[in-house]
Amino acid sequence: MKRLKYLILSAVFISASVMAQDQKTPERKAGHTNNNKFKQLYEEFSTPNMFRTGSGAPGPAYYQQQADYKMDITLDDKNAKITGSEVITYTNNSPDELSYLWVQLDQNMRAKDSKTPLIEGGGVAAASQPASFVKDYMAEPFDGGFNIEAVKDTQGKDLAHMINRTMMRIELPKPLKSGEKYSFSIKWWYNINNHVEGRGRSGYEYFPEDGNRAYVIAQFYPRMAVYNDVEGWQNSQFWGRDEFALPFGDFEVNITVPADHILDGTGELVNRKEVYSKEMLKRYEKARKSFDEPVVIVTQEEAEAAEKKFSTDTKTWKLHAKNVRDFGFATSRRFIWDMMAVEIGGKTIMAVSMYPKEGNPLWEQWSTKAVASTLKSYSRMTFDYPYLKAISVHAKNQGMEYPMICWNYGRPDKDGKYSDRVKFGMISVIIHEVGHNFFPMIVNSDERQWTWMDEGLNTFTQYVAEKDFGEAYPSALSSGQTEYPSRRGPAAKIVPYMGGDQDYIAPIMTKGLNTYQFGNNAYGKPATALNILRETIMGRELFDYSYKEYARRWMFKHPTPEDFFRTMEDASAVDLDWFWRGWFYTTDYVDIGVKDVKKYYVSSEINEATKEQAKRYGMEVSDLPALVYMVEEGSEEFKESLKGGKTTENSTTLKEYIMDNFTPDERRKLKEPKYFYNVTFEKPGGLVMPIIVEYSYADGTSKTETYPAQIWRLNDKEVSKAIASDKEIVGITVDPDLETADVDTSNNSWPRETKPSEFEAFKSKSKD
Ligand SMILES: [Zn+2]
Repeated sequence: MKRLKYLILSAVFISASVMAQDQKTPERKAGHTNNNKFKQLYEEFSTPNMFRTGSGAPGPAYYQQQADYKMDITLDDKNAKITGSEVITYTNNSPDELSYLWVQLDQNMRAKDSKTPLIEGGGVAAASQPASFVKDYMAEPFDGGFNIEAVKDTQGKDLAHMINRTMMRIELPKPLKSGEKYSFSIKWWYNINNHVEGRGRSGYEYFPEDGNRAYVIAQFYPRMAVYNDVEGWQNSQFWGRDEFALPFGDFEVNITVPADHILDGTGELVNRKEVYSKEMLKRYEKARKSFDEPVVIVTQEEAEAAEKKFSTDTKTWKLHAKNVRDFGFATSRRFIWDMMAVEIGGKTIMAVSMYPKEGNPLWEQWSTKAVASTLKSYSRMTFDYPYLKAISVHAKNQGMEYPMICWNYGRPDKDGKYSDRVKFGMISVIIHEVGHNFFPMIVNSDERQWTWMDEGLNTFTQYVAEKDFGEAYPSALSSGQTEYPSRRGPAAKIVPYMGGDQDYIAPIMTKGLNTYQFGNNAYGKPATALNILRETIMGRELFDYSYKEYARRWMFKHPTPEDFFRTMEDASAVDLDWFWRGWFYTTDYVDIGVKDVKKYYVSSEINEATKEQAKRYGMEVSDLPALVYMVEEGSEEFKESLKGGKTTENSTTLKEYIMDNFTPDERRKLKEPKYFYNVTFEKPGGLVMPIIVEYSYADGTSKTETYPAQIWRLNDKEVSKAIASDKEIVGITVDPDLETADVDTSNNSWPRETKPSEFEAFKSKSKD
């Protein structure tokens, strides 16, 4: 009975004191807009609808368009020119009637009249590579745009069309109704660019010693734009940076190249017997059963012999692909070719590498193994790889992805030697580009609008796959390394970017073309954010389940950012609006520290703070219920009580309460803490994050406590924790394992580490 009265009284008193404090701060009455960092993202997110649900899944009315291609392509190796004719069959699965179609002409970025160079506002470059200096100031602009020779309907009648730079609008003779298909043809050619000199995601590398070229060909055909429920037509121009938005479809592609070329590309080779030699077929059959080591299909000796021939005959390679969003291929007589089988979900998939001899010895050793390892890791994190092969092609300075095929850099010196930087750069780019098969080739996000949706998710998954690769192939690691040396992923690696000059940082939710520090913005920061989400905020089990669910829901579909954000919450029951808001919509950084630590004692002596509160309510101190008071060590009251010979060790009120309310048996089980602390944490950084704290005790032990990010919900600047402890705390460290990307760790410990300034350190060093 007594206990109950006590609780009621103290509850009344405490809630009244909170109200009194409210009245003390008159500016609160002026009215605030709700900028709380934990506010739900209703204003930023589009409203869920029948196409996309509030759970982040495709809705009952979700649709996507389909574009099927039949193409005949001819490579003119002598003149570095490519010619094609294609029939596109477009299926309108939308509920809308379409009066025109938009087709992407990406090569027009390389047209003589391209506007891409005109939007560069950086002025004279203080230093540039000779090749780019020649290209920029000394040479005629390269004429690499599409030459569109014909746009016709199936009857051979010309179709009216209009070209606006990299986009072509085709007028439909009559509107294309929901559910209808329309077929039309385009004839085109263009001059292939030298991708080593002029950069770009496709083109050729020229080898002056033997006069050969190695081609990596992509964005080479007029491609349908995406039409969907969020953008209508995604016909935002291609300026050269933001990548692509493409619908899925089936491809039948015949590619005619010199007879001594080796070629591989997106899709299944349907005329293998026509284009392989008998020896190659035998080796291929062996490769299909080799799960540990690659089998060479074309040897270096054979490639070296071929590089002298320059056949004038041709061969046609026929590739068919189902449900892909794009098509790419690589061809040269200089390619070495190897393959290895990988088993995923009970199916045999081929891991493939094509490389000129310049790639060896690195490429024969690691490329195909990196492909195989990547397919396994990504399949575990998302869904079983659904295509029949994945090819890694070595192309100088390239790192670029297409369905089933990608181009990768990493070239040893002429004498075959290579540094760790070259080796791990090569393995990492292969893991990254092969990983792009999952994001965005299958989980088909809009790259033109949201670079981070494929690059960020892919770079995060790459980090997981790199760790797997290091475990699967420890012999790839250099001496002294215990794990794969990842460049992006660990929190500490993003600190220089996040703590850098705010004038040169943009939120992740910015179109790639308009951001500073593209790599950190669209790759490094989102990948790190997801890694922190997995390791620190959600934990692996909840994160991995939700991440997989997102990939599974949007496999072979077109997700938006909200679909990702919503799914991660929907599948985990972790409220993440504050995390998306801070990390993706702002440029805030993490800086959390320990500001102050005060020691307290339990006392029966009424303290000044309580007296003041009583006064504010017009109450007498004697009106108050018997309370347990906390006295701060070193305070006036504390000194007073020491002077008067009174102890501050314990509270008679508390003792009486315990005696009255607990049996002797219960009393024995009660723990009496010896130490009380008030620990104040400060947050000079804008980002809210959990406070991870390591408490070190006088007996040499330590304990780590994580206070969820929501601790900041009512005070964004500082918060305090009351700590009752059996043991004396001698040290406090915030974020001891550097897992939150805290940009300033000088305030992370108590007592403050008195580090000598850099100047002092320099002085003492020079004395030695
Ligand atoms: Zn990428």
